[in-house]
Amino acid sequence: MAIYYAAVEGDPLDSGEGGRVYGTKKTIGTIQDENGRSRSMVFIGDEGYCAKCGSAGVITYGAGMADNRRMVDLVNGGRRQAVGGDVVLCKCATPPRIVALYGQKFKIIDGGGGMLGGIAENATGAVSPAPQEPERHRHVRWFYVWDAATGEPLRNRDYVADVAGSRQSGKTDSDGYAKIETDGEQSVEIHTTFSSPRRNLKPYRGAESG
Ligand SMILES: [Zn+2]
Repeated sequence: MAIYYAAVEGDPLDSGEGGRVYGTKKTIGTIQDENGRSRSMVFIGDEGYCAKCGSAGVITYGAGMADNRRMVDLVNGGRRQAVGGDVVLCKCATPPRIVALYGQKFKIIDGGGGMLGGIAENATGAVSPAPQEPERHRHVRWFYVWDAATGEPLRNRDYVADVAGSRQSGKTDSDGYAKIETDGEQSVEIHTTFSSPRRNLKPYRGAESG
């Protein structure tokens, strides 16, 4: 069993100080770093800059993680999520690896069957409905919910969300997005119902206070 973390914009490379992966132009989700800054998720095919050789290169698979454990970006052609350990194809003889520093709230457990699904916060995409104007003191947040066993979004699934103790129920849309309203930085826990077998989705977001 191994644990991987999502790669996000600004994550460094192991080839030396100054290297980093770029924020993707076509992001479909963000993850908050330790300081509360939202950082765009990075996908295979995005780029990184290597300070050692002074060149940029494309991000490709390097982590020994099963492909189907990676989130799929259906908005942009089905590309897969990049994680810590993936490499940047710069001019170095040995491609540097991404050090997943800022996306550690997004954890993927591979090989142990422990993580059967995932949620990307504030997930947005061209095919998802436009987020509504937040009402007073209410924040509309979109969660992309998918089955990490297959990589497929959980479309039209009933869910119950526990938002800081109060319940919101609904259905994910045809692209796997759930719309949940919160008061600021409340913790959100989403459970979806499955026919067989039953699975519960764990949140990646800790219980924060605004
Ligand atoms: Zn290099």
